[in-house]
Amino acid sequence: MTKEHVLVIGANGQIGSVLTNQLRRLFGTNQVVATDIRPPVAEHDGPFEILDVLDKKKLGEIVQKYHITQIYHLAAILSAKGEQKPVQAWDINMTGLLNILEVGRSTGIKKIFFPSSIAVFGPNVPKDQTPQDVSLTPTTVYGISKVAGEIWCQYYFDKYGLDVRSLRYPGIIGHQSLPGGGTTDYAVHIYHEALAKGQYECFLAEDMELPMIYMDDAIRATIELMEAPAAQIKIRTSYNLAGMSFNPAEQANSIREHLPDFQISYAPDYRQAIAASWPNSVDDSAARKDWNWNPAFDLPGMTQDMLQNLRAHQLTT
Ligand code: NAD
Repeated sequence: MTKEHVLVIGANGQIGSVLTNQLRRLFGTNQVVATDIRPPVAEHDGPFEILDVLDKKKLGEIVQKYHITQIYHLAAILSAKGEQKPVQAWDINMTGLLNILEVGRSTGIKKIFFPSSIAVFGPNVPKDQTPQDVSLTPTTVYGISKVAGEIWCQYYFDKYGLDVRSLRYPGIIGHQSLPGGGTTDYAVHIYHEALAKGQYECFLAEDMELPMIYMDDAIRATIELMEAPAAQIKIRTSYNLAGMSFNPAEQANSIREHLPDFQISYAPDYRQAIAASWPNSVDDSAARKDWNWNPAFDLPGMTQDMLQNLRAHQLTT
């Protein structure tokens, strides 16, 4: 087996920082090159390069320098931030992906991972167990960029045989990192504030149910998808991926199982309209069938693990 050389783009973000560590455990520290537009907060064990994904020339140089065989592309402007600067979000999300697909095609990269999102869905689809194949009419520039991105991935697979794989992530919740400007960020902040202050003001309505997934499951799904034999990958746009679904009131109740005095209040802002255009839950049966996806964490399990890890972190800092 040839040695894999993995490039992570957007490696300092909520997912990238955790995924880079996991990939380094899998492939070896020096086999995984972390890159981001900003320097890392903590020192990296392995190689790190500053890279703006819009700089195609430097991207090509890094790919050559490190003999890269796989790319995980995580750099993006997320849903809530994207609505503040729609044209910039489109540019980074779209041109960034096209740069990677082009460099991947022209340098013979073996595999590319592109994260899509539940933001591809618009208001006109079944809200519960939203199917894999429905018409995609998103209301945010972020969602539009993810729909276009999925179709570009399919195009590069069909036209050039480029092995691009993708997941429609739900909101991702983890103790290892902080979220970067999405509509589901509240579901991470709530745990931090519950421990720090015993209360939290939520920017979504109490009954706003959304699909979510625990970071450990999201990272495992990503690596399982990427390590599956190519013949098992039947969907070349992006797979629906589910972990759990809940609303803020249910999440607050699960926190009260551990912190009985926890208080939550609600002040929905512009992010409520974004959330209201998304599914309550998604049907991920294609992922389960094609590459045996199966989430391990439900809401009670996630809450227990989050609080335990955040408490342990408080004790060591
Ligand atoms: P994040 O905002 O936390 O991290 C993105 C990283 O990209 C940041 O470190 C940022 O510095 C970097 N970046 C921004 N512009 C860049 C540029 N021009 N060049 C290089 N790097 C740049 O995001 P995340 O939550 O880690 O998300 C990673 C991917 O997963 C994104 O594509 C996002 O759309 C997708 N996703 C995330 C979630 C979630 O809940 N976090 C859900 C669905 C999909």
